[in-house]
Amino acid sequence: MVLQNKVALIVGASAGIGRATALLFAEKGAHVVVGARRQDALDELVAEITASGGTAYALAGDASNETYAQKLCEAAVERFGGLDIAMHCAGALGKLGPTAEMNETNWHNVINVNLTGAFLGAKHQLPLMEKRGSGSLILTSSFVGYTAGMPGMAAYAAAKAGMVGLMKSLAVEYGPRGVRVNALLPGGTDTDMAAEFASTPEEKAFVRGLHALERIATPEEIAQSALYLASDASSFTTGHAMLVDGGVSIKKG
Ligand code: NAP
Repeated sequence: MVLQNKVALIVGASAGIGRATALLFAEKGAHVVVGARRQDALDELVAEITASGGTAYALAGDASNETYAQKLCEAAVERFGGLDIAMHCAGALGKLGPTAEMNETNWHNVINVNLTGAFLGAKHQLPLMEKRGSGSLILTSSFVGYTAGMPGMAAYAAAKAGMVGLMKSLAVEYGPRGVRVNALLPGGTDTDMAAEFASTPEEKAFVRGLHALERIATPEEIAQSALYLASDASSFTTGHAMLVDGGVSIKKG
């Protein structure tokens, strides 16, 4: 129970990596506040956590909205007394394709949910952790935009690279206050987003083959790395862009 009595907020928890992380954090003893747009999916998650003996509270909203970011933090304080851990997992690929054909609306949508959402969350989460004198903030970035340039992914890559820059700045700003800030950079992971990226058997085989391990991750494997960053096991780790990517970043042939 490495997160016993910690309070964790996970934004983008209705599916995929965020959902698996919420389940794991609750299993490890944390009181969990979960956010995303789909209330029904969040309610199901809360029911699952509660049935396993954990505690969770859900509040639905859009991660790119500052009032929502604020309300999630208020919920953590009102329900569970403060905030120790936060993870920005809300993300969207947007419309993939040639940059010359990408419209500005798509650009802004992708930047808003991935990057602006991470900023807005951090803005309200970090002061609560500072009050505790310790804390861990995790931004879910990607190898895309960090170790890999992939065609047709300009907005997503820019957002994910921006999250790494944001994380480094926050780590230095909040380090003296006892709060750690890191980025988690998954490789291909078996979620709705991965299915959106590669849907046919040929596309899926192509994506698997990009990885040294010749497979993609389960969301539960990525959640284990989030647990490491959230827990005291990583007490001297801050400002780190942690690749958990099955070797997609180093495979060349
Ligand atoms: P996913 O299964 O599609 O889940 C995305 C989550 O983000 C959902 O809970 C979704 O919930 C939430 N979300 C999307 N837009 C939102 C918004 N505007 N406001 C609030 N929540 C929003 O994807 P995933 O693969 O687990 O992705 C999680 C994170 O990992 C993302 O940041 C993604 O970029 C990153 N990542 C994924 C992979 C991969 O291969 N899967 C690889 C590298 C990095 P609602 O629809 O209910 O809002």
